Amino acid sequence: MGIFDRLKQGLRKTQNLPRSDIRDLFRDGHILDDQQLQQLEGRLLKTDMGVVATTAVIDQLREEHGGRTVDVEAIFETVKNTLKQQLASLTGESLDHTTNETNDPLAPLNLANDGLSVILVAGVNGVGKTTTIAKLAHLLIASGRSLVLVAGDTFRAAAVEQLTMWSQRLGCEIVTGEPRSDPASVAYSGCERAIESGVDCLVVDTAGRLQTDRNLMQELEKIHRVIANKIPGAPHESLLVLDATTGQNGISQARNFTEIVDCTGIVLAKLDGTARGGIVVPIRQQLGLPVKYVGVGEAIEDLEVFDANAFVEAMFANN
Ligand code: GDP
Ligand code: MG
Repeated sequence: MGIFDRLKQGLRKTQNLPRSDIRDLFRDGHILDDQQLQQLEGRLLKTDMGVVATTAVIDQLREEHGGRTVDVEAIFETVKNTLKQQLASLTGESLDHTTNETNDPLAPLNLANDGLSVILVAGVNGVGKTTTIAKLAHLLIASGRSLVLVAGDTFRAAAVEQLTMWSQRLGCEIVTGEPRSDPASVAYSGCERAIESGVDCLVVDTAGRLQTDRNLMQELEKIHRVIANKIPGAPHESLLVLDATTGQNGISQARNFTEIVDCTGIVLAKLDGTARGGIVVPIRQQLGLPVKYVGVGEAIEDLEVFDANAFVEAMFANN
């Protein structure tokens, strides 16, 4: 399956909604009126794409098609183009891969030109951090990078086991600590190990901290600091994993995290598990952070580079 097909597959639940909604609401040959637009507005909001983008879509439809004879395909085009503009007309545009022309799965990542790159992964419990790390490790290895993983979630034995299992399957080294040991010291050992063995990347897992828990957030800050002190320029990426199925809540989670550490980007996991995949839009609009990857399933290859244009096309694609 190609990238676009996997994205389409991942957006299956989200897709049905806008696609069939537009088909239901607007019939070729009828006159497009305000009532239909209002109905569409309600339905677009249900994808969680947010008020700003929804309003832009409705306004544009009214302007281009209002009072005219419906041409469903032309309506689709207007909706898609408006959404693409909404995703593009943001500050810090260069941060983001609006189009992934190179097809390089590592293109979104800020990696050191030479020497060791460190990727720190944070987020609330259960959002998909450890799975995302396994998927990222898979991409890195497939691109010829050597790496060491750090099991920084020392709170839960199961978390260490989970990452250890992935490291065995991927054939890469893992650094773990004693149960309940200080995650920052495990991160430190990981840095030392990575320097010693001369690998390209170090990927650090962390405990699923609630963003309201001060101690845990301070611990994350400490991990960040230890890594930065040990390796100049590190961490090169501080990725925040959000769970697409939690909707708007993810946005407030993200705000709290970004107050503690400088996040460099978002990975939106579990996009396949929700009909509200439109959440990508307000995440991009409100957080001013690039969405770098999206998770579209539980398997190791289910991580896609986020490409705004492909995303919009996939969201409205025919099944
Ligand atoms: P963590 O606590 O943040 O490390 O979360 P885990 O990586 O352990 O993931 C929690 C659950 O979410 C696991 O059952 C994963 O298989 C599942 N999961 C993670 N990413 C995805 C995804 O993109 N799609 C789906 N459907 N499930 C996912
Ligand atoms: Mg985990």
